[in-house]
Amino acid sequence: RLIGRLNLGTASPRDLLALNRSIRQSPRINEVLTDAASLLLQVLSENVFELPDIRDLIERAISDEPPVNANDGGVIRDGFNAELDELRSISTSAKQTIALFEEQERTRSGISNLKVRFNNVFGYYIEVSKGNISRVPDDYERRQTLANAERYTTPQLKEWEEKVLGAEEKILRIETELFQQVRSRVCEETRKLQSTARAFATLDALCALAEAAARLNYVSPVLHDGDEIEIKSGRHPIVEAFIKESFVPNDTLMNNSTDRLLIITGANMGGKSTTLRQIALIQILAQIGSFVPAASAKLPILDRIWTRVGASDDLASGRSTFMVEMTETAAILHNATPRSLILLDEIGRGTSTFDGLSIAWAVAEYLHNSAEHSAKTLFATHYHELTELAENLPGAKNYQITAGEKDGEVVFFHKLQPGKASKSYGIAVARLAGLPQSVIERAKDVLAKLEQYELAVFADETKAGLAKAAGGHAVSQFSLFAVSNEHVIDELREIDLDQLDPKEAKKLLAKLKGRII
Ligand code: ADP
Ligand code: MG
Repeated sequence: RLIGRLNLGTASPRDLLALNRSIRQSPRINEVLTDAASLLLQVLSENVFELPDIRDLIERAISDEPPVNANDGGVIRDGFNAELDELRSISTSAKQTIALFEEQERTRSGISNLKVRFNNVFGYYIEVSKGNISRVPDDYERRQTLANAERYTTPQLKEWEEKVLGAEEKILRIETELFQQVRSRVCEETRKLQSTARAFATLDALCALAEAAARLNYVSPVLHDGDEIEIKSGRHPIVEAFIKESFVPNDTLMNNSTDRLLIITGANMGGKSTTLRQIALIQILAQIGSFVPAASAKLPILDRIWTRVGASDDLASGRSTFMVEMTETAAILHNATPRSLILLDEIGRGTSTFDGLSIAWAVAEYLHNSAEHSAKTLFATHYHELTELAENLPGAKNYQITAGEKDGEVVFFHKLQPGKASKSYGIAVARLAGLPQSVIERAKDVLAKLEQYELAVFADETKAGLAKAAGGHAVSQFSLFAVSNEHVIDELREIDLDQLDPKEAKKLLAKLKGRII
């Protein structure tokens, strides 16, 4: 930033001092870097310039506390320029003389409140209040009349004034000139300054990473040419730093063959999103050259990390939450490669349940099957139906984040394990969040009914349709209630009325009625 201002000719004296504070560190930094074993640090050291001439120039030329604006004077340090020093001493002694002059004139005239003052319009003047005008000496020349006072000057005062003002005008001109010279001299070193700044910035980042690694117990990852991600006791660097409880570390195993699609289910608030991001962050840290928060990590080099996380809309450009989600998903499906890592955090949520599930299902299958776009994929979802998919695909694995119940309350273990979760605990979490009790009770009722219904529908759909869906056909859209009651309607259709007596008919009606949702 400072170099930019320097080259634009807008750098202030304070900017030069700030720049100098930085370059002053160069010798010390180079001293530390010379013995470094790391090649990177040696290269950085070669890019740090010590610029002794520049440091010396700024230190000799610029005063310790210069004004913000170079034109206000007081920029150039005493002793830097002989002419400037002389003019300053002339100006100072003239000012001292004027200060003494006030005392002399009070004594001479006997006017005890006589004042010598300065303003930009009239320069130096002697001010006498109205009541004392009769005592004004004869050699005073009137300059200005105010309501309560008269202002005067004397030939002698005028002479000193010229000295002061003349000197000050020259001082300012010389200071401005000198400052511009210093600035252009520093500017000539732009290339070296930029190189030094870049090296400092890199060092700063490396030091921050090193400090984090040391303080937070990170390990050096092993990067390899293969495709496995193998993390032991990985942690989320940020969540770990902020939660009050201790962080539960988790292992990860992924590859491009048997473990390329991980379907992760588990309670709401269990830690699915945390786990997804944690794996990606560990990979990113490793690829920027950092140590990682884990007990050990064996990692491939990835080309990209694709994410579809969080809910946001872009209403101003006409995109609903779901549209944003689908646009991002489309970009992933078209562009991911076997060298990529994909995080899908609950896709398919901004539409009807079956719409969403169908899309999630098809996306998971595509990522698993596509030769071109089959990337390592972490897929967190509340669609427990997807666990069935994972059971049937050779490259997919089910993982769950464990949670349990104690005295009717959900307890989170945050542990990632093979297997599928049985429940999402959404209602339990809603209760923790403070939804009214009556709403919670009603939700439980509705859930029970829906679960019953879904079992029925899904069993049928699995038999008939999934093989087909896996072959690339879209799962047809069906409405929750229509489909469910269709079973009843089908049964009604099949009834042979001629074969039914009234008693049987009544029994059958009761049964069918009980199955309507
Ligand atoms: P989900 O996506 O499954 O709903 P999150 O990943 O958002 O859950 O996690 C919810 C909260 O649980 C986090 O904000 C964090 O406080 C806590 N948490 C998640 N994972 C862990 C973990 N491994 N150890 C400790 N706390 C965790
Ligand atoms: Mg989540």
